[in-house]
Amino acid sequence: MTDCLFCKIIAGEIPSTKVYENESVYAFRDINPQAPTHILVVPREHIGSVAELTSANSAAAAKCLEAVAEIARQEGLTGGYRVVSNCGDDAGQTVKHLHFHILGGERLGDRMA
Ligand code: AMP
Ligand code: ZN
Repeated sequence: MTDCLFCKIIAGEIPSTKVYENESVYAFRDINPQAPTHILVVPREHIGSVAELTSANSAAAAKCLEAVAEIARQEGLTGGYRVVSNCGDDAGQTVKHLHFHILGGERLGDRMA
């Protein structure tokens, strides 16, 4: 998609700090980290959010979650971590390209919202 920030990051048109990539997934550090480790995991395929997942494209989401587990090992998040995907305006989704936040590196707050 031409006007999507994360599509541009995946294409290398906007710089990012890459932590992981494979044929389906790209992952990079969040520019405004909310935890000591804050990584965004995105499918290379443009999907707007969880709300757009169907049986035709859900493999891209599964690939992202496989990557989450691999990245967490790579980053040494042995104490645990949180995986968040904001979906839509009420959740505060600001970039309309499916992404999973990995948050960790400290004891996170008990409240999720
Ligand atoms: P969300 O609010 O769930 O849509 O998350 C979007 C995330 O993208 C936010 O946590 C932003 O800090 C992050 N973000 C925005 N622009 C960039 C960028 N150029 N590089 C890395 N992360 C970014
Ligand atoms: Zn996109």
